[in-house]
Amino acid sequence: MSHRCDLCADARVTPLIEFGAHPIAHHFLNDPAQAEYTHPVTLGFCEACGLTKGSPVFEAGSNDGTFLAALRERGFTKLLGLEPAQGAVTAARKLGVETVRAYFTPTVARELAASFG
Ligand SMILES: [Zn+2]
Repeated sequence: MSHRCDLCADARVTPLIEFGAHPIAHHFLNDPAQAEYTHPVTLGFCEACGLTKGSPVFEAGSNDGTFLAALRERGFTKLLGLEPAQGAVTAARKLGVETVRAYFTPTVARELAASFG
């Protein structure tokens, strides 16, 4: 399967993380017995404009850190999550994912940009 980058349209996109088959959001079934349409969800890496494994990765609304932990398993080392929910922050920290507990506001964005890059 070939894809083009959504940012630069380059065709050199390789799968980085496969999330499996997912249903389409806001598409409700009329009957529970009805077959649900799903499609594969994959995070791709663009060789032309993509991140390098030394690039910092920041995720606003990082929840329990699953995505950042998956990136860490693939060699990314500078990761930071931002999540307002205490339970999710605790779960992320148990995974070893550095997570700041706060809402994403202009003030917080400036502070994180100054400290994280
Ligand atoms: Zn690109």
